[in-house]
Amino acid sequence: SPAVRDRLRIAIQKSGRLSEPARALLASAGLSWRESRDRLFCYGESLPVDLLLVRDDDIPGLIADGVCDLGIVGRNVLAEQAGEREAAGLPVVFREWRALGFGGCRLSIAVPDGWDWQGPAQLAGKRIATSYPNLLRAWLRAQAIEADIVVLNGSVEIAPRLGQADLICDLVSSGATLAANQLKPVLDILHSEAVLAGPVTPFVDARAELAELLLRRMDGVLRIRDSKLLLFQAPREALPQVLQLLPDAEPPTVCPVEGGETLALQALCHGVMTWQRLEELKRAGARGLMVLPVERVLA
Ligand code: ATP
Ligand code: MG
Repeated sequence: SPAVRDRLRIAIQKSGRLSEPARALLASAGLSWRESRDRLFCYGESLPVDLLLVRDDDIPGLIADGVCDLGIVGRNVLAEQAGEREAAGLPVVFREWRALGFGGCRLSIAVPDGWDWQGPAQLAGKRIATSYPNLLRAWLRAQAIEADIVVLNGSVEIAPRLGQADLICDLVSSGATLAANQLKPVLDILHSEAVLAGPVTPFVDARAELAELLLRRMDGVLRIRDSKLLLFQAPREALPQVLQLLPDAEPPTVCPVEGGETLALQALCHGVMTWQRLEELKRAGARGLMVLPVERVLA
């Protein structure tokens, strides 16, 4: 049975694509640590929530072993290791708790530039290099395709040029790495982003309340990530057109400006407020537009 603990321990990537955004997210949820960047362990100060800084590949296992309670890791890593445990007949004791909206990428099939891509059936009998054998195997099985999987732990994109494989299945974000290796992505087998991972079974000690507090705060942070408070004035008759341009806004607060037909409005908008949107609002009759950052929301 799991050890009883009164502090929550979260594993995050020590250094890499997810480490800075993961720390920033936890910090905006109100966590702070007595930290030194190169240490493995950060002791939580504002709340009894500590960080363990590790390789991203170790995160699901740390949760499975109960060494850590939660982790921030790519869905690709979590899903691959879930598949690995299933294949080995082990119980999958971790799962995705929340998608976090950063670290976006796709696990894609990429073929040499010269291929005339016709569809998945073309993969039959081919050698596919990947670091995600379990995800690839599951996908191939679902497509009823038989192909050879060549497992590589790094530099997957050079495998076709080295003659180790005919094509690859790898993570892609911009596609620049693939292009530099004369490969092109032809289909995505997984859409990934950073996720909060946690155990399948709920905590039974003080960690339950801590995890709930943290989740509530993180949800608040994620909900208002792009949110802005929009302040402006508009003539009463322009209001319908102006509000039509704000479909992502909460019902606005509207007050009369003294001595006229002008209204002052304040609206919490959840979508990105670009210059272009402001210009459209102005054309619809809005004046004195002001976009304010939203730091915290407690519903
Ligand atoms: P570690 O040393 O912790 O093992 P790593 O080299 O395995 O690091 P990173 O390259 O930092 O890991 O990537 C971490 C995660 O970032 C990936 O698992 C994936 O979820 C996400 N990611 C986003 N874009 C990309 C991309 N273009 N290539 C690889 N991973 C990406
Ligand atoms: Mg790794």
